[in-house]
Amino acid sequence: MAVSIKLSERCGGVCELCNSLPANHEYTVSPKKDDAIQNQVALCDTCLSAIDEKDKGDYWRCLEGSIWNPEASVQALSYRILQSYKEEEWAENVINSIELDEDTVQWALSIFEVADRHKDAFGNILENGDNVVLTQALNVKGTSFTAAKGTIVKRIRLVPGNTEQIEGKINEQTIVILAKYVKKG
Ligand SMILES: [Zn+2]
Repeated sequence: MAVSIKLSERCGGVCELCNSLPANHEYTVSPKKDDAIQNQVALCDTCLSAIDEKDKGDYWRCLEGSIWNPEASVQALSYRILQSYKEEEWAENVINSIELDEDTVQWALSIFEVADRHKDAFGNILENGDNVVLTQALNVKGTSFTAAKGTIVKRIRLVPGNTEQIEGKINEQTIVILAKYVKKG
C-alpha cells in the first residue's frame, strides 16, 4: 500500500527501519489490523521483503538505529525482528541495551505467542465437533450416573473463554467435562 501523506510526513519519506531507502509501503504491525498511523511503519522495498526472509542478520544491523525511533510501532517491529536473531551477538546486545515500554514489548512478542487452545489429556488440540473418550470415570453431577472410563462423547463443544472445559452429552445430558480428562477420539 502506498504511504499516506501523514505517514510520509512522519518518516520524511525514508524507511523507518533502515533509515536510508525511500519509504514505499505502509506496514501495519500485527496484531493491529487498521491503518491508524500509530500502528504503522513506513518501509522500503528491501526491508519489506527482508521481514519475511531468514538469515538476514547482517542486513538487520540497521535496527540498532531504528529501535531508538520514538514511535512505538517502529520500536515494536524492530524488537520483533531482533528477537528472531537473538542468537547473534549483535542482536542480543541491542536487545539488552534498550528499555522499552512493557506494552511495546508485548506488542512485539505477540507474534511468538501460541494462542490458548483447548487441549486433551495428551496435549492434542480439541476442536468443536470432535469426538472424545473419557480417560477416567466421571460422576455426572446431579445424578447417580457415573460415566465409565472409555465412554465416548460425540461432537463436543468448546467452552468459550475457558480452555479447561468442554461440553458434551453423556447419558442424554449435556455436561461440562474437564478437557484434561478426555482423549481426542
Ligand atoms: Zn528499509
